[in-house]
Amino acid sequence: MQDVVEALRKSFGSNSVVTDPEITTSNATDWTGRFRGEAICVIRPVNPWQVQRAIEIARNSHTPITTQGGNTSLVGGATPVNGGVILSSQFLKGIEIERTSQIARVGAGVTLTELNSKAGEFGLRFAVDLAARDSATLGGMVATNAGGIHVLRYGGTRQQLVGIEAILGTGQMISRMEGLYKDNSGYDWASILCGSEGTLGVITKAVVKLVPAAKHRSVALVSVDTLAGAIRIMAEARRTFASLDAAEFMSRAGLKLVQRLGEKRWPLGDMPAYALLLETAGDEVEVDELAEFLENHEEATDAALAYDSRADGLWSWREEQSVAINSQGIPHKLDVTIPIEEMPAFVGYVSELIGIEYPRVQAIFFGHLGDGNIHVNLLNVDEADDEIDHEILATVASSGGSISAEHGIGRAKVHDLSLTRSPQDIGSMLSIKRALDPSHILNPGILFD
Ligand SMILES: Cc1cc2nc3c(=O)[nH]c(=O)nc-3n(C[C@H](O)[C@H](O)[C@H](O)COP(=O)(O)OP(=O)(O)OC[C@H]3O[C@@H](n4cnc5c(N)ncnc54)[C@H](O)[C@@H]3O)c2cc1C
Repeated sequence: MQDVVEALRKSFGSNSVVTDPEITTSNATDWTGRFRGEAICVIRPVNPWQVQRAIEIARNSHTPITTQGGNTSLVGGATPVNGGVILSSQFLKGIEIERTSQIARVGAGVTLTELNSKAGEFGLRFAVDLAARDSATLGGMVATNAGGIHVLRYGGTRQQLVGIEAILGTGQMISRMEGLYKDNSGYDWASILCGSEGTLGVITKAVVKLVPAAKHRSVALVSVDTLAGAIRIMAEARRTFASLDAAEFMSRAGLKLVQRLGEKRWPLGDMPAYALLLETAGDEVEVDELAEFLENHEEATDAALAYDSRADGLWSWREEQSVAINSQGIPHKLDVTIPIEEMPAFVGYVSELIGIEYPRVQAIFFGHLGDGNIHVNLLNVDEADDEIDHEILATVASSGGSISAEHGIGRAKVHDLSLTRSPQDIGSMLSIKRALDPSHILNPGILFD
């Protein structure tokens, strides 16, 4: 392994190959603290040719490479399973905006906040948004096909992609950086690499569509007694407001944690069983329209409304869920999609299962209501014990849902992939993996066992 470090140092210079155990240990630990690995070093290439060289060295020495962006994966996707090298995209920077075609060419290590700050200078923004925006990188978002809070209006990351540059596990560079809205000339590399979780290649750049930055955001935080009620309001809001940008839900247990952690005052009367957060975004402030809409819904028992930056306080009840849950211990995080109408039954089933079979465990639900995406957070479960995870994911599969809505499979769910993908399906994925990463050096143990 020392030879590998020496070879990397020769190619990259000593400063770009970090062996300090404090740094390698920190990079080899995931955001939740549940997944830990080891790495001989962290390398920080500054251009695609350095990535190419790193892959060549890894191939020649059979050394695993785990690619890492902002390390905000919630499934241990950027945490090495078999040691080796962590390739950090941190220094793959650069943002180039084309105003006429409304696209951005972005280095893989650019964070979402950095992209939006630059796009904002042109009156534009990236349509995908998520709470980890200050750390999550475009490379990581493409590799996981990140979803987030605006999927109901704009789709996920794959829908925004119009080009990619990557170094495959073969060492070959794929470059489709023209940024064409239409290009049906053969296989679409951007689509193939999007959601591949670093198993096929290292993404070095992406070309993404941008949308006009909204002049105003209007937000309603709504108290509801049942999840079914929240779904009915959300569905009606979707039909009523073409500008509906987000429809999120939180449950009382999570709201209480956010309240306690931030020593905040809940802005409405009694804390409800569920809260629904609706946001519209566009040229007009729409708080009056939202208020009138909610008045006609008996199931909305109370609501607080605000717009623009004054709405940040309302959003904090949703955005601080993950941090508040993590403050209680290391959670098991299951990110699932359920057919929307079946969400209440699913939450009821999980609550009952836990009440009867796992009484020590606390389940906290929140998520992207408009997408049928529930984040099931389980506290007081041993880190290595995933019996309860399997049981819940099996129910998701039998409900016709997905065991990963947006976070990916990572390390956390490698043993569950077959719940929703057939042997033929997985076999075909592995054929692609073998063709593009024949030495099996990229992210071993992630996505596939
Ligand atoms: C508070 C919080 C909120 C979140 N909210 C959401 C949400 O709403 N929606 C959502 O989808 N996710 C969410 N996430 C999860 C996470 O932010 C996303 O998965 C994000 O896309 C990961 O980006 P990253 O740069 O941190 O990637 P990392 O965590 O570093 O890596 C994620 C995966 O991508 C691979 N990868 C990273 N960079 C590259 C590259 N350049 N080339 C090839 N592979 C690469 C890694 O190997 C790994 O498998 C949240 C996370 C946190 C902590």
